[in-house]
Amino acid sequence: MESELGDLISRVTVMKNEKDTLVWSSEATRCFTVSFAYECLVKTTRGPQIEAFKYLWKAKTFPNVMFTAWRVLLRRIPTRLCLRRKGVLLDTTVCAFCEAKEESCQHLFLECKFSCCVWTMCLRWIGVLFVQHNDIRNHFESFHLTQGSNKQNLIWKGEWATIVRCLWEHRNAVVFNQGVVDEEEVFQKAQLKSWLWLKYKRYNFNYFFSDWVLNPMLCISSYK
Ligand SMILES: [Zn+2]
Repeated sequence: MESELGDLISRVTVMKNEKDTLVWSSEATRCFTVSFAYECLVKTTRGPQIEAFKYLWKAKTFPNVMFTAWRVLLRRIPTRLCLRRKGVLLDTTVCAFCEAKEESCQHLFLECKFSCCVWTMCLRWIGVLFVQHNDIRNHFESFHLTQGSNKQNLIWKGEWATIVRCLWEHRNAVVFNQGVVDEEEVFQKAQLKSWLWLKYKRYNFNYFFSDWVLNPMLCISSYK
């Protein structure tokens, strides 16, 4: 470390009459910009998640929903098992839904029988045949309409994020507000939230909530 420091100092020319300033040496302008810092981070963060994030940030849903999905894809959502691993003292680490297995991210959102039931209800509603993956990232990437346009698929990616968010909100209601485990409630909330986003953000989406519930595929067929 000493020789490293000596090497760093030897490369600096001390200017007697100049004021000390901070500069962002990674850019030619020597000025810090958030976008350039983001580019630097993306270059250094290699890994398969990045591909998934490209779709996630374009998904058609609310920003807070995207944020929750992002944390889930990184497995950084504070499940009981995650908190225990970080040294938080908890009475239990069992899943708030089934109370049978440990509450890991993988279990809570995919493997739990309760979550599986919610996914099945949502897929039946959408009318898509889907092989469910055990890995959360594969699950997200596979949530795709093969015949769908890019816009339609971004709506479905938003649907995935919405289902994940609704599962997480429901889990928190069970843990903190004496909520009752109810898959129908999660399913209906996912339907409502996805419709609300389309209704208020997509200006030519003129379908009633009842249309959306009865035939979601028909409602998005205009998005080519
Ligand atoms: Zn469970």
